[in-house]
Amino acid sequence: MALHAVEFPPATHDFQTFLGQAEPNMQVVLHGYIGQRADLSKKLSFVRLTDPTMKYSIQVVAFGKNDATEKLKSLNAHSPVAVRGKVQKKKGKNTDAGDKPAEEKWELALEDVHPLNDFPKDIIMTPETVFAPEHRYLQLRSDAELRDALQFRAEVRNECKKELENCQPPFVEIETPLLFKSTPEGAREFLVPTRRAGLAYALPQSPQQYKQILMASGIPRYFQFARCFRDEDLRADRQPEFTQLDLEMSFATGEDVMRTIEGVVRRLWANLMQDPAPEGPFRRRSYQEVMAKYGSDKPDTRYGMELMRLDHLLPADLVMKISPLENPIVEAFKLESQNNDPAATLKFIGQFLDSPAGAPFNNNPDGGPGVFVYNGKQPLCGLQPFGFEAAEQIEELLEPDHGDLIIIQARPRAPFAGGATPVGDLRRALHGHAVSAGFSPSPTGFDFMWVVDFPLFSPSSDSEPGQGGAAGFSSTHHPFTAPKTAADVDMLLADPTKVVADHYDLVVNGVELGGGSRRIHDAAVQEFILRDILQMKPERLVDFEHLLDALRAGCPPHAGLALGFDRLVAVLLGKESVRDVIAFPKTGKGGDDAMVRAPSPMTEEALETYHLRLRK
Ligand code: ASP
Repeated sequence: MALHAVEFPPATHDFQTFLGQAEPNMQVVLHGYIGQRADLSKKLSFVRLTDPTMKYSIQVVAFGKNDATEKLKSLNAHSPVAVRGKVQKKKGKNTDAGDKPAEEKWELALEDVHPLNDFPKDIIMTPETVFAPEHRYLQLRSDAELRDALQFRAEVRNECKKELENCQPPFVEIETPLLFKSTPEGAREFLVPTRRAGLAYALPQSPQQYKQILMASGIPRYFQFARCFRDEDLRADRQPEFTQLDLEMSFATGEDVMRTIEGVVRRLWANLMQDPAPEGPFRRRSYQEVMAKYGSDKPDTRYGMELMRLDHLLPADLVMKISPLENPIVEAFKLESQNNDPAATLKFIGQFLDSPAGAPFNNNPDGGPGVFVYNGKQPLCGLQPFGFEAAEQIEELLEPDHGDLIIIQARPRAPFAGGATPVGDLRRALHGHAVSAGFSPSPTGFDFMWVVDFPLFSPSSDSEPGQGGAAGFSSTHHPFTAPKTAADVDMLLADPTKVVADHYDLVVNGVELGGGSRRIHDAAVQEFILRDILQMKPERLVDFEHLLDALRAGCPPHAGLALGFDRLVAVLLGKESVRDVIAFPKTGKGGDDAMVRAPSPMTEEALETYHLRLRK
């Protein structure tokens, strides 16, 4: 076994400084990784040395038969080394030209090389190699874009921090505990068993309760880059642990929070982006409005395809053909054809609906999409099934051109609930497919908006535990969000499902960047909502006693928000997945870390320590 030296010569320069100061005969020691060696003869070899940041490199020349050359020849490409050498002008054509980068003007005549470790010969590493998640370190090492993303992420963090600390009064960065306790805030938690029999911590799904207690503690403005943990399905590019830029302000309303966040966003765009900084205040749209117009509470508003209600126009036999529902709502949207070719449109939509992406829409139990291609050469331009009168009105509503696609879709006649309707999902999926198939242009720019006036409560679902109350509904956001107006407080008793929340989400290009709310700061109202409206069991209600006590202790009104920090960085970089901006993301359905192989089985010993027994 060849051991590598514990001691190695310090570098005389980092590459950037070195390249700025290089001159003939300068003696230097440089650290870095060696590249593929080229042996021109027994006595002459070349190799590139890449610096530790992997941003710069320089040519090293080994001349003559000597120890240093021998050592160099024993090394595999990508091995880390310390190289001692003498600077000389690079030979060859045009190396003197003024516009040559310094890397091409100079080279190093090798005097000694200290191997610092080996890189295995059997690992092929090129900038294009894609490594399995088990070898994330190799992916990071070979993929400059990935490393740049991590550096950019750090810059985003600094900019956010500067903006918040420059506010008046400034936000104060405060860490809150990661060993928290289980409370029915909304998401499924991760438990951390302790050595005390039957006692467990829970990892925080967000610092929500601690930050509200900070408001009761006389901290006027708090922020934190907070690690949050949610044991959720990993669909939709989520991670079981993720980072939020979390903040809270006392003596404040949602207006103050939205203004603060607009400042953060503007600063990020002004300092880190090529695109112009978005101008404020960002426009606001109500939940009802975006659900009706786009079928989504986080719509991408850059490409039209707005939904229109058609049910009042449609002949009954057509409705029966597209849906088994009695008296459904029917919505339509139009996808423009770029080349006004009905045959191409038909082919495009056929391909989409036959693909796996189209399957959930075809299989919608409320009926699949009805597809029409507007065609000037056909009777009623292809809208014959609508009948003469409806076809005319649809033309007026949707203003289709030759070759445009018209989709209609039924849904049950019920108030909006949740994040999207099937037609909203179809609009998004179809547009995505149209862009990747070259049928539609890719939308550009950033379109920010606040989605406001969410319902305070939503029907409970199997996928989200909510607060586990007996009311049949759960908090849309979390149970600490305040009703919007005094009338909404009154409505709590009459019909909780109609109560509007003082809740705001920041949405850009179809992505929810974050959300927040004005909080209930009155303990009696908070308790009333938990106990009487959500109908939580008394034994779960006591889990919130700490918060109720803090509110009771003269807590000022307060409001806050959290931005999904991973998502924010991904949006800034135009990345599809948050995995591209996280050093060690979890993969797979189970939220595995394939590299360290977590989660791992609990040993008998550990089970004993924590007083646990596995159920068969
Ligand atoms: N804690 C909330 C969340 O994680 C954010 C907030 O209301 O400030 O979504």
